[in-house]
Amino acid sequence: MKARVAILPGDGIGPEVTAQGVRCLQQVAQRFGHQFELTELPFGGAAIELHGDPLPAATLEACRGADAVLLGAIGGPKWSAPDAPLRPEAGLLRLRRELGLFANLRPVSVQPALADASTLKADTVRGVDLVFVRELTGGIYFGAKERSATRASDLCVYTVAEIERIVRVAAALARSRRGRLTSIDKSNVLETSRLWREVTQRIMDSEFPDVKLEHVLVDAAAMHLIRRPRDFDVLVTENMFGDILTDEASMLTGSLGLLPSASLGADRRGLFEPIHGSAPDIAGRGIANPCGTILSVALLLRHSLQLPAEAAAVEQAVGDALAAGARTADLVAPGAQALSTAAAGDAVLSRLARS
Ligand code: NAD
Repeated sequence: MKARVAILPGDGIGPEVTAQGVRCLQQVAQRFGHQFELTELPFGGAAIELHGDPLPAATLEACRGADAVLLGAIGGPKWSAPDAPLRPEAGLLRLRRELGLFANLRPVSVQPALADASTLKADTVRGVDLVFVRELTGGIYFGAKERSATRASDLCVYTVAEIERIVRVAAALARSRRGRLTSIDKSNVLETSRLWREVTQRIMDSEFPDVKLEHVLVDAAAMHLIRRPRDFDVLVTENMFGDILTDEASMLTGSLGLLPSASLGADRRGLFEPIHGSAPDIAGRGIANPCGTILSVALLLRHSLQLPAEAAAVEQAVGDALAAGARTADLVAPGAQALSTAAAGDAVLSRLARS
């Protein structure tokens, strides 16, 4: 197939890990006979430096015209002063809005070889395989904000249509996996959560009767995620709860550097990025873990390019490389030899070539 992918390396370790994602896309194209047109574009802090805008018009245009977008990470101390006039994060929020990306998927699966890498007991995390579906464009982050000298408020708003569309994405995903959906809310206190629960129940009863639904309060979900994480399949929740719980869930795997994400809209086009940030503390040293980005390439292949076999081959190659002991510094035992970012990329690509 032919496809266009916009590549946004961004800041800090973003360009280092994105380079490995690009190599992976090139190898998939060669190995499976596809033509991928990859176009690199400035974004985030790098684009502020070059064009005075975190999302220059040419970058947005190229993303609109692409089948998918692969992003590294953005941000850093240079652009985070409280009075900074331009912030890289503003570019990301605008890009998500412009592309209509309302569903954020974060798969969390514990690689068998890394069950010991989590701060939780190996017996608790072994076999964990869940996906968070977080609503990305509504709720308290986007509601009206007010501030006076003595008072501040943030408004949380959800509409029926916003809840329906995210629940449908999550339920369809659950149907393609183990058929279980957990909806997380705070319906004992919040009106938006009562609407969330009502709409979710209606959609599931009428359109997905074959998917098993449970409702869990967000405080209980925070506890169950680390007490019995294996019990979950797909979890759907609103923007702020999802923001917090997905960071908690990422720790089940042992390193932030391992986790991919996909942001999807009404059509197949999506934005794919590792969940970590630009890691200024290790940037420029060539030691970042590229697996989160390479696994984001797998999600890109599956969701935007509809190439499930290619996606599975990439995931298998990452799993095999980790099982064979390929470890970057974030995963090695203290004092043990760690692979560089490029060498970890090599370890995955050599297995992909043999798949
Ligand atoms: P971070 O995710 O960048 O780093 C947290 C810790 O994890 C650091 O110690 C870092 O070294 C480590 N880490 C992260 N990714 C790693 C990888 N691939 N391999 C090995 N170790 C890795 O979070 P932070 O330090 O809170 O934020 C740094 C900057 O990133 C901030 O400017 C923040 O706004 C930005 N940020 C951007 C995104 C994004 O681009 N979507 C997401 C989160 C944070």
